[in-house]
Amino acid sequence: MKISDYDCPSCGASYLVAESTSAPAGPSHADCAICGERLASWEEPKLRVYRLEMSAEFKYPRIQPPPSPQ
Ligand SMILES: [Zn+2]
Repeated sequence: MKISDYDCPSCGASYLVAESTSAPAGPSHADCAICGERLASWEEPKLRVYRLEMSAEFKYPRIQPPPSPQ
């Protein structure tokens, strides 16, 4: 298993890429989960997974606190 980092060239979203040549999979591709841009496509029979590394901004969305009871 090979792990590397990849940033979407379009929107800059950070991905963790896990690549395995031992797990057979067909040619495939990966699209950015944020902007939909094609991240990569490959013809080799390998398994490659792009995991979005959520920024703190996405992990902890600002939620308006409910109004305090009066
Ligand atoms: Zn993107």
